[in-house]
Amino acid sequence: MKHFVNAKIANVIAHELHHLAQNIECIPITDIESIPRHMRENPYVKYFLNPYEIEAYHVGFRAESDMSGRPLRYCVHDYLWKYKEAGQITQAEYDYIYIQWCTTQIKLVKQFEVNIES
Ligand SMILES: [Zn+2]
Repeated sequence: MKHFVNAKIANVIAHELHHLAQNIECIPITDIESIPRHMRENPYVKYFLNPYEIEAYHVGFRAESDMSGRPLRYCVHDYLWKYKEAGQITQAEYDYIYIQWCTTQIKLVKQFEVNIES
């Protein structure tokens, strides 16, 4: 049990640390065009599909998966399914977010210039 609690804490820490590493000026906060039209009104969906959140959730679940030894997709499912059960997202929204969180690429990180002469 302790192991799983630690894994969840690692998830939250990795999620928030990833936000610190992101370049928040790179794209608009909500890239509404990237969300399927019929899902755009749900505030949970808008939040979960914010490109910054997609990356941070992915990184967080990767940390949780490493620590717990459970596949990433199980960690994503457990978290997201609670929103589906509570009626906050539909099955179609669950499916769409699940895929985004499981398969995203990390792109929104700050780039640092390295000067090798100094
Ligand atoms: Zn976040």
